[in-house]
Amino acid sequence: MNKTIPTTTSEYQLQPTRLQEQLDDGTTRCHLCLWRCKLKHGQRGFCQAHVNRHGTLYNLSYGILSAIDVGRIEDKPVRHYRPGTQVMSVGSYGCNFRCRGCHNLEISWGVDALDELARGESKAAYVTPQALIDVALRQGVEGIAFTYSEPAVWLEYVIDVSKLARENNLYTVYVSNSFVTDEGLAEMAPWVDVLCSDIKSLDDAFYKDICPVSNVEQVLASIAEAQRLGMHVETRTNIIPGKNDDPQMLRAMADWIRQNLGADSPWHITRFFPAYQLSDIPMTPSESLWQAHDMAMQAGLKHVYVYDDKGCDCATENRPVADFLNGKVDDIHQVKKCAASCCGDEGILLKKYEAESR
Ligand code: SF4
Ligand code: SF4
Repeated sequence: MNKTIPTTTSEYQLQPTRLQEQLDDGTTRCHLCLWRCKLKHGQRGFCQAHVNRHGTLYNLSYGILSAIDVGRIEDKPVRHYRPGTQVMSVGSYGCNFRCRGCHNLEISWGVDALDELARGESKAAYVTPQALIDVALRQGVEGIAFTYSEPAVWLEYVIDVSKLARENNLYTVYVSNSFVTDEGLAEMAPWVDVLCSDIKSLDDAFYKDICPVSNVEQVLASIAEAQRLGMHVETRTNIIPGKNDDPQMLRAMADWIRQNLGADSPWHITRFFPAYQLSDIPMTPSESLWQAHDMAMQAGLKHVYVYDDKGCDCATENRPVADFLNGKVDDIHQVKKCAASCCGDEGILLKKYEAESR
């Protein structure tokens, strides 16, 4: 497999996708997540964050931040790794799922924001890995969490930040849907300390609904692989009435966790709040959450946590990104055009390539 290692720059610039393979038919395949998108020149992957330009894939969102927040690691939720410490959460744009109840649409799918980046019209904040570490140190946190959407879609940045974090005695947390390749996990496992992964359901139809190429086995295998590679793993299930609240299935989930991650492995059960295409489904009743809790304890799990007040790791109430960064707001939100010169004088990436690819 062809692999290119990104180099960080002080200015916004597209970075080569970390796991890519040039195929005999002239297309290039991305191996960051299990979509394994096969792209022609000018095309973008399902996540919209990677683009093929003349046979090489590039990450559009490297260093681009959509949200920052500081809070307890327990809110990720992670409870058995450095409890009581503060963590700085960061996210970019783009996700490899399209969950119908997602609370983070504007930033998680981030289609408009990624279109703007592709057209060289984005005013999103760009923060180098070193600058992000500096922000974390100024905030006095002990770790950095990659969250708000699937971090695999900007793994280039996640890994560069995580390496620097370790040098600065900061831990890292990766909040994931675990639709991630083994190759992606192998790249991140030496550098990322904690995986907090969703297990959304044990029903294939549920996964097919939100991500047509996904199935439960792939997600579960990825979670087990992360633990095998030495990451500290905790799992989370958001219980949606009528969708994934079947008692037998919840019991099977608890059994899977005990058998594959161990009886000590923490399981976090969160409440669903209506959103987007699932706005007509009511909030999860407390009884359902506690029923799942009791069943999991009967199944032999020792650490099961219920969150009555919390669904996902949302960014909707975060302070503006610029609040955390040094510099004037206008400077932070200047238009971002790729600093590389390969696109010609106009400096607007992809516009012409998108035209060529049609
Ligand atoms: S990260 Fe996943 S969705 Fe995005 S281009 Fe790569 S394989 Fe496709
Ligand atoms: S709920 Fe999470 S995995 Fe699903 S689309 Fe939103 S950010 Fe992506």
